[in-house]
Parts: sequence; structure tokens; C-alpha cells
Amino acid sequence: MSHPHSRNPANGQLIKEYPFISQSECEAIVRRTAEAQKTWRNVSLEERRNVLLQLAAALRERNEELAAMATREMGKPITQSRAEVNKCAQVCEWYAEHGPAALAPQPTQVEGKKAWQEFRPLGTILAVMPWNFPYWQILRGAAGMLLAGNTYLLKHAPNVMGCAYLMKDIFDKLDAPAGIFDVVNIDNDGVSALIADSRIAAVAVTGSVRAGSAIAAQAGAALKKTVLELGGSDPFIVLADADLDEAVKAAVIGRYQNTGQVCMAAKRFIIEESIAQQFEQKFTQAVTDLSMGDPTLDATYLGPMARYDLRDELHHQVEKTLAEGARLVCGGEKVAGDGNYYAPTILTDVKETMTAFREEVFGPVATLTVARDANHALELANNSEFGLAATVWSADTEVTGMLTRHLETGAIFVNGYGASDPRVTIGGVKKSGYGRELNHFGLHEFCNIQTVWVD
Ligand code: NDP
Repeated sequence: MSHPHSRNPANGQLIKEYPFISQSECEAIVRRTAEAQKTWRNVSLEERRNVLLQLAAALRERNEELAAMATREMGKPITQSRAEVNKCAQVCEWYAEHGPAALAPQPTQVEGKKAWQEFRPLGTILAVMPWNFPYWQILRGAAGMLLAGNTYLLKHAPNVMGCAYLMKDIFDKLDAPAGIFDVVNIDNDGVSALIADSRIAAVAVTGSVRAGSAIAAQAGAALKKTVLELGGSDPFIVLADADLDEAVKAAVIGRYQNTGQVCMAAKRFIIEESIAQQFEQKFTQAVTDLSMGDPTLDATYLGPMARYDLRDELHHQVEKTLAEGARLVCGGEKVAGDGNYYAPTILTDVKETMTAFREEVFGPVATLTVARDANHALELANNSEFGLAATVWSADTEVTGMLTRHLETGAIFVNGYGASDPRVTIGGVKKSGYGRELNHFGLHEFCNIQTVWVD
């Protein structure tokens, strides 16, 4: 396996190589992080909360620097990079404000006795993270884990190691015990060794089904808890009575933000027959109006895709779906030149058996499928091995209520679009993974929920 390196996907130029650390360097980091946890768990909740607030302030202060690194390493349009860094600060602030109440001991009724639940940390958490939100993927888990008294060991994706080390630099400069957050630049065998290491208490993974199932199998063998967030193929249902213009605006953001590289992006658009043509026209107009180009410019909405091999994979999925009988409305090709751009694409007449309906399509490609009515839309939406989130557009609250009850997903957005937010949980069912992030449910995932019973 080649050493991790970052390459600017806007022009193909190598930015920097990050040679893997040696076994002894890894050992020193793990030892330090595990030792730090023993101190950190005994630091008062108030002090841990203050560290989160310091972290939020540091993220805001260094927003430009962090944003520029994400844009350079994975091509995220700069305004979206800045927004990502802000959101990281917000999740720290949210946990600082609401976390302590969620971690307070909860009394429970046991007749004639005293009993309650405590929320203790688990230990050191290994986090295997992807490149698509190089900071948010870290902080949305780390903020709660750290507040609960865990320490955090990051194995980041090889193409965003600059982002990983910038985050470490931010932590190193906080007034906090050294080692509560660290980075290990290791290969998959190194990850396997850490999963088996008794100093690692649990593992959090965000990424592909392949990565999640490989890691969960090893963690299972070592009897360690995992939380898996493995992407999806989210349905976006638009029924005939929806506000079409608003639905189209939401559809464009839901599918094309971050150049389509979002786990809970809308991927399968399921449109009621009577408005299908109108939706297709308006959506196509809006998509062709998107500005694609240099991700360092404020005006750019679509940047290059993060990795060249993933653009090849996406193009292959598009070609296969067309060969299976779908119709190309726009895009469908790699943009010529050194940059890793893929033309924003819409495929229509997409059927349930086709590749782009069945597989996760991780890039600026939308598929349109026609439904006869709400029940048919539901059937189509649930015909997927994924179950991360869903979006429903309709003015009829009975219908949206019915869909909400029956959609097999971890989240449902009505008359909006899917996005993660500290105030609500995210996570999946089916092959989208298990466990929850964010909100107090996410906070409790990496706690030892301890019963205390006093006779
Ligand atoms: P991966 O799942 O391969 O990578 C995500 C992280 O998991 C990386 O840090 C990767 O490290 C690590 N990883 C992968 N396999 C293992 C393993 N066996 N043991 C230990 N660590 C492992 O995703 P890709 O970047 O290759 O993207 C492929 C597809 O995954 C995308 O097209 C998309 O469908 C999906 N994806 C979903 C994301 C989401 O947000 N849910 C995010 C990113 C991708 P390394 O690269 O060193 O193997």
C-alpha cells in the first residue's frame, strides 16, 4: 500500500506525502492517549465542558486556515469548507450547553431502595473516518465522546492527513491534558492491531459498507462496541401536492452540496407521475445553472470530486445504468483536463433493478424514478439495502405521517432536505449501519451506562 498523500483534485498536483508512522511511534501515541484518559475521566465535567468551548473558539479563530486545507485536499468549495468548520464549532458548543444534563446521574424507581444510572466513559475510542467532511466527521463524534471523559484516537482517510494534523495542532494548543486527541497515520493492518489492543475500548467508523463490515467483524471478535455510519442511497419523494419550486430547491442542495459526496444526500428521486415531467424540467434547469469550477472561489458551488479512482467508479455506475435502459438528461461525463471534475448528472427512467438505484452513488449524479402514488413511492423508497435518511415532500400531513411511519430509515425530513444537526441523531438501519451519533443518544453510545443500586 502506498503512503498516504494528498493531491489537489482541482489540478492533480501532489500536495504532500505523509509516510506511515512506525510501530513504535504508534505504540507511544496509544500509550499516551490511554494514559491521558485516566486523567481526563477524573477532570470535572465543568472543566471538560470548558475544553469544548475553548475548542469551539479555536475552530472559529482558525476557520480560514482549516477551510483552505479542506478545499486543497479534497476539493470542497471554499464557502462549504468554511461552513463545515463553523458547524464543528457549533457541535462543541451544543454539547457544552446540553451535554452535562444528559450526563447527569438519572434516578430510577426501585421500591424501598436507592438506584440510579451513571454515565461513565468507556476509555479510548478509535475513530476510523472518511474524507468527505474531513473535520465534521471527526468533531460530530469527538465532541460528545470527549465530554463524557473518553479520549479519541483518529485514523483518518489517507487523502486528508493535512486536515487530520491541523485538528491535532488545534487540540495540542488547548489548555487541556495532553493526549486527549491524537492521530495515528497507519494502514489497515495497523487498525486491526489497534482493534485487538486492550487499550482501545470501542471503535467508531464512518465510511463504506466494506470498511464498516471489515472493522465490525474484527471488533466483534475482540468483543468491542462499534458505531457504524456507512452511507446510504436516500430517497427523496415528491408527491403531486408538494410545493414544486421549493422541492426543487431542496432537491438541488440535498443532492449536489459537497459535490454529491455526502452519506445522507438525496440520491434516489422518486416523483409522483402527474408532476414527474414538470419536476424533471425544473430540476434540470436548476442543476445546469450550478456553477462548477475552482473550489477556492466563493462563487463555486460544485468542485472537483475528492479522488480520481472514485470518479472512475461513479462514471462506471452511470454508464452501466444507461446501458440498463436509463435516459441521460444532462452530464454523464468526466470533464476534460487535469482536475477531477464530473459534470452534474441527471439520469431519468431509472428502474429498481438498475445499478444507480441499487448502489450508493457518491458524487454529483441524481436518479429520477416515477411512482404511481404515495404507496408506490414508499415501496420504491424501501426497496434498498440502505436505510440512512429519507426526504418527503407533500402538503398532506396524513400522507407524510403515513410515509414517516413506514419508511425504513434512521431519519426522515419532511418538506426540507437531509442534513446532520447536533440537536437530532443520525445513524442508519439496514446496511447504513447501527448506533447513533449526535444528540444525547449519540453521547450515550460511548458511555458505560452504569447502574448503582444501594440496598
Ligand atoms: P472507505 O470506507 O474505504 O474509507 C473510509 C475510512 O475507512 C478510511 O479511513 C479508510 O482508510 C478506512 N478503511 C477502509 N477499509 C478499512 C479496513 N478494512 N480496515 C481499517 N480501515 C479501513 O471509503 P472510500 O474513501 O474508499 O470511499 C468508497 C465509498 O465509500 C464511497 O464511494 C462511498 O460510497 C462510501 N463512503 C461513504 C461515506 C459516508 O459518509 N458514509 C464517506 C466516504 C465514503 P484507508 O483508505 O486507509 O483504507
